[in-house]
Amino acid sequence: MSGVRGPIDAVARYVRRAAAAAANDDAPAGEGAAAGRTSAPPADGAATSRVWRWFRYSPLLAQLVVTRRCNLACGYCSEFDRTSPLVPAEVLRERVDHLARLGTVAIDFTGGEPLLHPQLGELVAHARNRRFVSVRLNSNGYLMTERRIEELNAAGLDEAQVSVDGVKANETTVKALEPLRPKLELLARLARFDIVLSGVVGSGATVAEVEEVIRFARDHGFRPRILLVHHDDGQLALRPADLAMYRGLQRKVGFHLSDMGDYREKLIAHGRAPFRCRAGSRYLYIDELGIVRWCSQTREIFGKPLADYGPHDLRRQYHTPKRCNTGCTLGCARTCSLFDEWLPQDGPPAGSRHHEPPPASSAQDDPQHAAGG
Ligand code: SF4
Ligand code: SF4
Repeated sequence: MSGVRGPIDAVARYVRRAAAAAANDDAPAGEGAAAGRTSAPPADGAATSRVWRWFRYSPLLAQLVVTRRCNLACGYCSEFDRTSPLVPAEVLRERVDHLARLGTVAIDFTGGEPLLHPQLGELVAHARNRRFVSVRLNSNGYLMTERRIEELNAAGLDEAQVSVDGVKANETTVKALEPLRPKLELLARLARFDIVLSGVVGSGATVAEVEEVIRFARDHGFRPRILLVHHDDGQLALRPADLAMYRGLQRKVGFHLSDMGDYREKLIAHGRAPFRCRAGSRYLYIDELGIVRWCSQTREIFGKPLADYGPHDLRRQYHTPKRCNTGCTLGCARTCSLFDEWLPQDGPPAGSRHHEPPPASSAQDDPQHAAGG
């Protein structure tokens, strides 16, 4: 029973926050509370309706970029540079606060490499105080030290996600088990937060290599996960021959919530797995400039400043069909969209069409920081 107390308490805190925010405003953002506005207590029916609308479109996950800069330079990656400044902590705190007012359930600090930000621990603690149900981090793991891990423990981080591209480093990537082993062992010894360790199918790693990653994760108390490679527009970059490899590995890893819907198998087998993408509503990606994007792979297509983002935007994007949905491999957006799949999207379609995956550059299904749901 004690194992479920933590999540139950977190959900209860979230529901209380939702009810308070909804009672103070007639929509998810709860900007009334932010502006210090007080409203007369709503009648019971009105309060119920507000709470319902608050839940109806609020984000399940927001990925917040704390810097575009990265300490590595993986050959397939389109999500980093070597020059961007760190986003100031006070600006990031405001973004975290705004996401809380939007009713966001879980927040994910990402990059680039978020551990380059010296105030990351403070930001995690700030998010924890804003009562997100889950506070997470995506990292390549290279900058993990005893001090940083203790800092994240003290801040109340729930989960860190690290993905590795195989066992040995090569000219494309050094995100590999061998060079990362000391950092991962340090995490296993010191971290009080959960670690998700992902092996990647389609990145050139062999079955044996991905199996070794899974074994390492299990032996060290981490949760293993399998990711797929995708092109830098989010579309699948695998050959049908990878299906058997994926199936065998997935059986070894076992079922997890992020595998619901079985989109990976459909994508590999048929190249198509249409879904109602609720990016911009159930899932948000906020870039280093504070612009809400549908996701990391559609940064050229949709954007609106988070500071101006409110309930009407959540609702509009919830109802906007994304033309790129058919071949999308972004597991985090798919998982966040899953619960509303049975509900219609009645807005005009937007974005670029799915195109058949060419063989050129590819990025991972949730590079190191994507969650995959
Ligand atoms: S995949 Fe991650 S670690 Fe590699 S360059 Fe991109 S942001 Fe950096
Ligand atoms: S379907 Fe949604 S998550 Fe996938 S690439 Fe398009 S906007 Fe991004």
